[in-house]
Formats: sequence, C-alpha cells, structure tokens
Amino acid sequence: MIYDGVEGPLLWISKGDYEGEVQIFGSSKVQQKAREMIEELVAGDNGPGGFRRGRSGSIWSAAALQASLEDNPPQAIDWVSMRANRHKYEEMKWQDLPPLKKDFYFESEIVASRCEEEVKAWRKANNDIFVDDLKEGEGEKRPFPNPVVTFDEAFLHYPGIMENIVRVGFAKPTPIQSQAWPMSLKGDDLIAIAQTGTGKTLAYLLPGFIHMDGQPVKRDKQDGPGMLVLTPTRELALQIESECNKYSYKGFKCVCVYGGGDRRAQIKAISAGVDIVIATPGRFNDLQMNELINLHSITYLVLDEADRMLDMGFEPQIMKILLDVRPDRQTMMTSATWPTGVRRLAKTYLNNPMMVYVGTLDLAAVNTVQQTVLFCQDEEKKAYLFNFVHNMEPEDKVLIFVGKKIMCDDLSSDMCLRGLAVQSLHGDREQCDREEALKDFKESVVRILVATDLASRGLDVTDVTHVFNFDFPRNIEEYVHRVGRTGRAGRSGASITLVTRGDWRKAADLIPILERAGQEVPDELVLMAERYEKHKREKEMYGSRGGGGRGVRDRGESNWRF
Ligand code: AMP
Repeated sequence: MIYDGVEGPLLWISKGDYEGEVQIFGSSKVQQKAREMIEELVAGDNGPGGFRRGRSGSIWSAAALQASLEDNPPQAIDWVSMRANRHKYEEMKWQDLPPLKKDFYFESEIVASRCEEEVKAWRKANNDIFVDDLKEGEGEKRPFPNPVVTFDEAFLHYPGIMENIVRVGFAKPTPIQSQAWPMSLKGDDLIAIAQTGTGKTLAYLLPGFIHMDGQPVKRDKQDGPGMLVLTPTRELALQIESECNKYSYKGFKCVCVYGGGDRRAQIKAISAGVDIVIATPGRFNDLQMNELINLHSITYLVLDEADRMLDMGFEPQIMKILLDVRPDRQTMMTSATWPTGVRRLAKTYLNNPMMVYVGTLDLAAVNTVQQTVLFCQDEEKKAYLFNFVHNMEPEDKVLIFVGKKIMCDDLSSDMCLRGLAVQSLHGDREQCDREEALKDFKESVVRILVATDLASRGLDVTDVTHVFNFDFPRNIEEYVHRVGRTGRAGRSGASITLVTRGDWRKAADLIPILERAGQEVPDELVLMAERYEKHKREKEMYGSRGGGGRGVRDRGESNWRF
C-alpha cells in the first residue's frame, strides 16, 4: 500500500482466501475518475463484497487500461542514473561519521634493527610462519613489519596492556601474536590463518583495545560499540568474552550475543551501552534487522574462524551485517584453513590485507600427545570405550568424540546408567545445558565429557589427559583439532582412536600426521590405506559398478552434523 498522508477512497477486494486493500491518491479529479471506474466495474457483480474481473483477468476494463497507458506511457529504467545515485546514497550514508585513526604502532629500535636473515630464521623456527601482502592490483608489495619477540616490543607505549599481560604471567608472545601485532597495530587489515590454541584471540583483541581507545572521538561520546567480533559458535563467543574480560582495558564493556541465549537480557545489555560485542552472526543479524543496535560506530571488526562460519552457512548474515559497518573500518579475519569461500570473503570485505599463515595444522600441540590407533568392528566400539573408562585413574580427564548427536546421547546415558559421572555436549542441547556441561567438565565436577565436533575446536580446558575418538573424525583437520584438546599448556596427553573398516578412506591422511609427530604407524593402517587406494583405482577404471569395490560402502561420511 502507498501512503502519502492523504486519505483517499478505499476498495476492498475479497475473493476466496485473499483480501486486498487499495488506496487511491491524487487530485480530487483523479480520485473521482477512479471512483467512477471502480463503480462501473463493481456494478456488474452482485456477490457479497466481491466483483467480477474483466475477461483479461484484470479488474480494469480493456478501455481503462488503454487510457491509463496513454496517459502514462511506460518509462525505460535509467540504470545509469540509478547506479550513479547508488554511489551518491552510499556516500551520504557514511558522510557524517567521525574521523578514524588506525596507526598505533611504535616500532622499537631493537625490532627495527633485526636483519632480514634473522627475521627469516625466526619465522622458520616459529611454526614456519609465512607472511604475504594481498594488496589488489599491480605494484610493489609493502614491506612486512618485523616480528616482536617480547611483549614490551609490542606494547611499551601502552602500559595498561602491559599490566594485564604481566598479571597473567605469560612468558612471551605466541608466534601468531609476534607477527600479527605489528601489522594490526599499524592499522592494516589482516588475515591470520591460525587455529584455536595458538593465542589468536589476543592477537586481535589487544590491538583492538588500543584502536578503540585511540579514536579521535572518545568511546563515551560514541553511540554504539566500537568493536564487533563475529564467531561461529556460542561456546567460542563465550570463550572470547572471557578472554576480553580477563584482559579488560580502560573499563571497556563487553557483551556476548548468541542464539539460544536470553535475547531480552542481551538487548538490555546493549541498550545500557557497550564497547565490544562478541556475537554469532544469526543472533546479531536479528538484532540488526530489528534496529536494536547501531553498527555505524564499529571501526574494528573481527571475523573469527571464518572458514567455520561459512561451513555453518552464515555467509548471508555476515553479508547483511557488513552492509551497515563503515567501509573504512579495520578488519581482522582468522581462519584455520584457506579455502575458496574464505578467499572470496577476504577479497570482498577486507581492504588490501596482510596475511600471516601459521601452518595448516597445529602439529605443535599434537606432538605432545601420545597417539594410539585401535582397529575394531563397529559393534565392538562400546566395549573398547567402557574398558578404557573403567581403567581411568582418578586424575584422568577424558573427552570422548562421537560423530552424531544421537550417539552422544546414547553413550552418555549408557554411562549414567552404569553410575559414571558424565556430561554431554552437542548442538541440539539447550544453551544452558551446554554451558553447564562445559563448566562441569572444566571444574572437574565430571571427568568424562562426550561431545560432537562442536568441542573439537576452541575449547580451552587445560587439564584434559585423554582424547578418545569413538568415531573417526570427518577429516584429518578435525583429527588434529580433537587431539589438540589434550597435551595443552605444556602438559603431555594421550589419544585413542578407534578405526573401523568404514574409515578406510581416511587412513592415508592419518599416516603422515602420526609420522610427523614421531608416533608408531600401525601396519594395519598402512594396509588399509593401500586397500582403499586400490579400490579407488579400480573404481576409476571400471566405473562405480566394477572392480574390488563392489558391495563395499564408503561409510562414515554422511550425516555429520554437530
Ligand atoms: P586462543 O588460541 O586464542 O584460543 O588461546 C588459547 C589459550 O592460550 C588461551 O587460554 C589464552 O589465554 C592463552 N594464551 C594467549 N596468549 C598466550 C601467550 N602469549 N602465552 C601463553 N598463553 C597464551
């Protein structure tokens, strides 16, 4: 319906289940003409509240349509002017924003004095760090800032940040922090290919604090948050929030916004004034669409675990959110992998970013884990697991990974029935139950947690002694993530992985991981990998019906939802 504030004649169209309302506006002459035309049409119909359509299917007579066309011939759409206006409106949308400052880096003399060879050797020795400049177009690459190897080298000019670091007692920056801090403090957009557990959260949070505090218009004069962190899951959002609060700076207020959490409480917290929002894209987009939050004040944006956000189908929400965040912001992106979707996201939403790559797999964590692979039949798996659980020492703590939510419930209720204290974690559980499960496990109220891959990344529980892969993970990256849940913070850990015939296609990927971590590679695993390779070749040669693969199903790949 079109409203122009003038009251005009009304026409109700009722037919079947549909009901329409037409309001006609314009001069009284035009309104009179419309009234006559309507009366003429309605006069032919006796039905209650209805009227007959013309033969053309239109409620207007052919003559009336023709007359209307003559009065108002259809106009061609002027795409050129529409496009020109789009830019104009885009500029108007952003014209009243406060000025933005991005460069806060003071390179110390000692950092500047490191020679190229020294820097190269340092990068090699620290997870084989690789840096790149993804600036668009031709021309020289920008120089890469040298890494900082102590906290002082990065934050000497920011005593508030240093106090926090000294308080928690960290010895030195992690490799990603060493290389990412100079880049982000300089104000560059940055892509960090790094996994959870590498210290990536502080790699973007601390420069973000400095960025917000250093804006020409101070925080208390701004109407809305300065930093937004988008992250795929509630668990990660809560974990980032706790990091944010642990290193709190200048009293910045932080709110965590996620689906399943108390929406009203989240809205209330935002309305009370907030500096940092940590959010899952779905819920944040919901608040944005309902105009419950101002996004124009955001100058520091983080897309955390971008690959996982895309895997979870959040791209449309991210796109909508970014439409309302000022385009000249500073954007940080982290991702464990670098697939096409993430590259596209980076190209669209980051502005000439620098890139720091800390190796595809966090093998450093896995190197401290003793990894055992056991071969069994599907129906033997439970017996293996219960054998393990019954032999646990009092100080042991195990994270049991399964492929499906139903198995998660099945195993945890089996254990409960046997009198074991256990918790479970998967995507279908209520948020409060998920939080409680994690809390119980962290605080050792229970020492057994059965979980889907929801828990494979990002969960920071330092004293997990064992990871038990009841179901083999979907892919080898997930294996590394899962195994990396133990052997954390300088401790050693152990993993047990059950492998059944259905897992044969993943056998070949596991071999190099075990080799690189100096673990024993079972002969059965090598044979399995060879058998799958042969099956694949035969399948390629004879098509899907032929060769040794007949009758063998590639199981274990479908229905993985966590
Ligand atoms: P993240 O990769 O951000 O999930 O961090 C994993 C854990 O490492 C968190 O508990 C951090 O508090 C911790 N951490 C972050 N930076 C350092 C550091 N420089 N030294 C030791 N631990 C750190």
